[in-house]
Amino acid sequence: MSTKRDYYDILGVDRNASPDEIKKAYRKLALKHHPDKNQGDNESEERFKEINEAYEVLCDEEKRGAYDRFGHEGVGAGQGGGYGFGFNDIFNDFFGDIFSHPNNKKTKQRKGEDLRYAVKIKFEEAIFGVSKEIKFNRYDKCTGCGGTGAKNGIKPVVCPVCKGTGEIRQQQGFFTVSRTCYKCKGEGEFIESPCPVCKGEGRVILARRLDIKIPAGIDDGNRLKVSGEGASGFHGGPNGDLYVDISVEPHHIFKRNGNDIYVTVPVSFAQAALGCEAEAPTVDGKAAIKIPPGTQSGTKFTLKGRGAPSLGGAVKGNEYVNIVVETPANLTSKQKKLLEEFARESGEETHPLKKSFLDKILSINK
Ligand SMILES: [Zn+2]
Ligand SMILES: [Zn+2]
Repeated sequence: MSTKRDYYDILGVDRNASPDEIKKAYRKLALKHHPDKNQGDNESEERFKEINEAYEVLCDEEKRGAYDRFGHEGVGAGQGGGYGFGFNDIFNDFFGDIFSHPNNKKTKQRKGEDLRYAVKIKFEEAIFGVSKEIKFNRYDKCTGCGGTGAKNGIKPVVCPVCKGTGEIRQQQGFFTVSRTCYKCKGEGEFIESPCPVCKGEGRVILARRLDIKIPAGIDDGNRLKVSGEGASGFHGGPNGDLYVDISVEPHHIFKRNGNDIYVTVPVSFAQAALGCEAEAPTVDGKAAIKIPPGTQSGTKFTLKGRGAPSLGGAVKGNEYVNIVVETPANLTSKQKKLLEEFARESGEETHPLKKSFLDKILSINK
C-alpha cells in the first residue's frame, strides 16, 4: 500500500509528456523549491525531495517504463532496494554552479560558495598591471552570533528526531528508505533559539570592498583567483574563493596576440622610395625604425622585446610593425606634372614588384 503521490502529478505533467517537457517542468519546480532559496521552509524541502524523486524516475526511460507498469513498487524493485536519490548529480547537471552546494548536508563544515566578478580594464592596464577596487555583496560570518547561528551563543542541541545522524530511516514494504531529517535538515543538531540577525544561518549578506592587484601581462579572458574572498563557510568551514574574469578593451592602434603586439605605420610614397627614419609607437614609448630606400607596402619590421610582458613580467614579446605605403591623393597640378615627369623618366625598370609581375605574365604567354 502506497501513500506516495503520483510522479506525473508531482511534476505537473501529462503521462505522455516528452522527456523535454519533463525536464522543463522539473527545472522550474526544482528552482522554486530549492533549499537555498527556502531556508527553514520544511514544506518546500519536502516538495524539493518529492520533485527530485519523481524526476529521477521519469527522466530515465527504463525506470519510467517500470513505473508506468508497476507504479512506485516497480521503481523501488528496479533500483535494487531503497531510493538512492542522486539529488546532487541531477542538480549539478542542470544548474551547474548557480547553487554551489545543492542540498549537500552530509558534512557539517562546508566551504562557502565561490563567487565570480567581471572586470573590464584598459589595454595599457593589462600591459602594465593595475590595482582595482571592486565592490560586491557576499555572505559573511554573522556578527550577531559569530557564525554559530545560535542566539546569545547558546550551543546547538543534538537533534531529538534523528538522534544526531541527520537521517530518518523508514521501513517501506521490503525496503528501508532513508531521508534527510526534516527537523535538523541533515545537520544532526539544531538550534533551539536561532540568532535573530541571521535567522540561524550563521551568515548574512554584507557589502564587501576589495582592492585586487591585476598583474602586468594579463590578457583578455584570463581569470584571477582570489583565495578566501568568496562567501563565508558553513559551520566554521572555510570561505569560498573569488574568481575575477578579466576582459580587456581593444586599443585603437595596437593589436595583441599573446605577448606580441602588432601595429601598422603609414609612410608616404616618397619616404618609402627614398628611405627614411620613421617612428613606431610601442606600449612603452616611440621606437625609431630605419626604412630603407625602396621599401614596399606590407614590409614588416620586428622590434624585439617591445611587446607585452608575460604574466608576471619575466619575458617580453615582440612588436611587429607593418608598413603601409600611402599613395598620394588630391594632387595639385604641379604635383601631377612632377609625377608625370617622374613616370616618363622611370619606365617600368624602377618598379621591382611590377617588373617581376610583368615578367611572369610574359612567361605564361610564351
Ligand atoms: Zn535531525
Ligand atoms: Zn547570527
